[in-house]
Amino acid sequence: MSQQLNSQSIMELEHIHGAHNYHPLPVVLNKGQGVYVWDVEGKKYFDFLSAYSAVNQGHCHPQIIQAMIDQAQRLTLTSRAFYNDKLGVFEKKITELFGFDKVLPMNSGAEAVETALKIARKWGYEKKGIPEESAQIVVCENNFHGRTTTIISFSNDSDARKDFGPYTKGFISVPYDDIDALEKVFMANDKLIAGFLVEPIQGEAGVYVPEPGYLAKAKELCQKYNILFIADEVQTGIARTGKLLAIDHENVKADILVLGKALSGGVYPVSAVLANDSIMEVIQPGQHGSTFGGNPIAAAVGVAALDVIIQENLADNALELGELFRKELNKYIENSTICTKVRGKGLLNAILINDTPTSETAWNICLKLRDNGLLAKPTHGNIIRFAPPLVINKEQVLQCVQIIISTLKEFEK
Ligand SMILES: *Cc1c(COP(=O)(O)O)cnc(C)c1O
Repeated sequence: MSQQLNSQSIMELEHIHGAHNYHPLPVVLNKGQGVYVWDVEGKKYFDFLSAYSAVNQGHCHPQIIQAMIDQAQRLTLTSRAFYNDKLGVFEKKITELFGFDKVLPMNSGAEAVETALKIARKWGYEKKGIPEESAQIVVCENNFHGRTTTIISFSNDSDARKDFGPYTKGFISVPYDDIDALEKVFMANDKLIAGFLVEPIQGEAGVYVPEPGYLAKAKELCQKYNILFIADEVQTGIARTGKLLAIDHENVKADILVLGKALSGGVYPVSAVLANDSIMEVIQPGQHGSTFGGNPIAAAVGVAALDVIIQENLADNALELGELFRKELNKYIENSTICTKVRGKGLLNAILINDTPTSETAWNICLKLRDNGLLAKPTHGNIIRFAPPLVINKEQVLQCVQIIISTLKEFEK
């Protein structure tokens, strides 16, 4: 089709031919660069979602794109039946950067979470001595870890879960950010529990930041009861919260670390599970895998994406500009009736809208933000997440704060 379609006709195409498993904000994008995206009519926006924190390095980062082009023209896929010359280089880079003996590469975040669960269960049987078929994983209420059948089995979001059963067994849910509840469950079932799976900040739940010390204490409890601490940093990792990992804020080391999203800078699906040898060695040839996992493009892109994070100091930038963002918004919130709170860490933030979770207010605010040149999406009703690419600068943050405040003012009662 040589003729350029307009936004309306493109949305209609999707509506007619695509499954309705998403409810996108009505804006059709066809170009991105750094913190900006453009729609098909040429209007420019600040991207304040960053594809759920996959595009931390900014849209179409030249270094990452070049790595992908070079590799795509040379070799794209061998499967793991043979070696390729890029995977080992990526494995060395990522394990040294995050301080683990080994990595297991996958593609999507959900696959990496599944991989972590399988490793934890196998470790539970072979190393901890859990009786056959009885390993338990402790998870948190309001978690989001992806969309596979097993993962939605331990979700308490009815949209994600309802009518997709029968569900996978072996999960115990505890309230998030409640260390006493966690210890109770550990104490009562310690011989059967293989792992504790946790998001260091609950992103999809509405950027819920736990009390300081929660993660460190949870890790301590895991050590005490010989339970693996599994950090799902798919959304919070790779500089988003102002440190390389969100658990770094509490100097916590995960036993199993799950990464995805920004591991490719948003150009390609790349995910990974990291662990030390005593854990990773439970996986032997033939016991787990993926046709595309660890392919040469993914490996080349992963190396470039991590290089950009380090070379451009994106963690420090996120830390500093996140503080500025919350400080500026807080000045406004003091006297606002429509917005009651801003919370977050680094450049993973959210505002709470003063209306019922079922109201359309947050959605309508996002439509107005779009009209005013900034793209964001409500998460869980009356919460709007703000997560720009980490290459944003101070001037742009201040400009965006002005857009957000003037938009919110239109909704003041
Ligand atoms: C997005 C996300 C996932 C799932 O990643 P996909 O690539 O969509 O499968 C898992 N965990 C967390 C915390 C996420 O934010």
